Amino acid sequence: MGRNGKRAFSPVEARVKNDRSLRPAAGGPPSRNRRTVTNRRAPGFSTRAIHDGQEPDPATGAVTVPIYATSTYVQKELGKDIRYDYARAANPTRDRLETNLASLEGGISARVFASGMAAINALCTLYGRGDHVVCGHNLYGGVPRLFDRILSGYGIEFTYVDASQPASVERALKRNTRMIYVETPTNPLMALTDIGRVAEISRAKRVELVVDNTFLSPFFQRPIALGADMVVHSTTKFLNGHSDGLGGVVVCTRQDQAERLAFVQKAAGAILSPFECWLILRGTKTLAVRMLQHDANGRRVAEFLAGHRKVKKVFYPGLKDHPQHALAKRQMSGFGSMITFETGSLAHAAKMLKRVRVCSLGESLGGVETLISHPATMTHAGLGVEGRARIGITDGMVRISVGIEDVGDILADLDQALA
Ligand code: PLP
Repeated sequence: MGRNGKRAFSPVEARVKNDRSLRPAAGGPPSRNRRTVTNRRAPGFSTRAIHDGQEPDPATGAVTVPIYATSTYVQKELGKDIRYDYARAANPTRDRLETNLASLEGGISARVFASGMAAINALCTLYGRGDHVVCGHNLYGGVPRLFDRILSGYGIEFTYVDASQPASVERALKRNTRMIYVETPTNPLMALTDIGRVAEISRAKRVELVVDNTFLSPFFQRPIALGADMVVHSTTKFLNGHSDGLGGVVVCTRQDQAERLAFVQKAAGAILSPFECWLILRGTKTLAVRMLQHDANGRRVAEFLAGHRKVKKVFYPGLKDHPQHALAKRQMSGFGSMITFETGSLAHAAKMLKRVRVCSLGESLGGVETLISHPATMTHAGLGVEGRARIGITDGMVRISVGIEDVGDILADLDQALA
């Protein structure tokens, strides 16, 4: 309680109340959950995160979704099962997670897979020989590896363009283009795609727009509300949030997509285990508060780096000098905590990465702990020297996923590491 008897706002609550940019991104569906506060009021983001798909267990009343650790289900009689028959096809914990994630992204359905890459691979089975895909040229390195070294062998053709320029996307479309695939913000250059504008282009040509929303989570960006046809995530990152499990999801806007992807789960089998589903269900309950703190810390770290004499350049959509800052304010409701900065050379980057103590040197992102990495030798090594040079990834770049530790400790650590 505050001194005058009114409940005091926590720092996070106070920030949300006062900062209009820190509201969950607009555009979720009205919840199917019955826990509406009044008949007229649709539940907010956190209420849906905590309750949609997370209803108490009907058998026991357990408030937490049980982990249904079973490979098979007893059938009542020949040909009569109780919804479930074999766990590759369906599992109740997985069903609950899929309901939860569809609600948060504003889709009609979601399908989860064993990793982000498994989800993207499953998505691509919607397309086939003779189909053409236009993709952003700055994607997580594993995605072009999948596209160019595996899927192109099955007859799907991929063209890479600078998706921060909608005109380049439009120009790359061909008669057989079936999908536009983008990440926004991009990894590691933090360039943005204008989702609404590219959605107009894709709709006009009857091409599906798929957005990887891993970097911001649905708390700060809702691609479907902006016109995307599907959303993918590496749930390994912010949705799980605790760096303790891999996972991936495709969120759908149409029944045919959802049915086809359910078939892929059953037929190809790269499904997510019930335990990992449960970890993500636990993660999404705190997504809103985590994202607010990630964003608060991210802004502080970006400003600190931008003012540091050893840092040549900072890539962060929240900085006013980011070339797409205005777009960031329009289509995102927070800037998140992914930042890339230029140290000037491989030697400088290596020196600082060796010195960090609070920040952990490692792949991945989106966990509560600050993770720091070197795109040229880690996430984007597979692109090769020329591939990296083509899109502007240098040897001196360092990427940081700012965690939710005390921000003063993160700043002090970066300061001593850069000294
Ligand atoms: N999409 C993005 C933006 C990523 O950063 C990653 C991995 O880092 C992936 C997809 C692949 O996800 P996973 O590592 O869960 O397979």
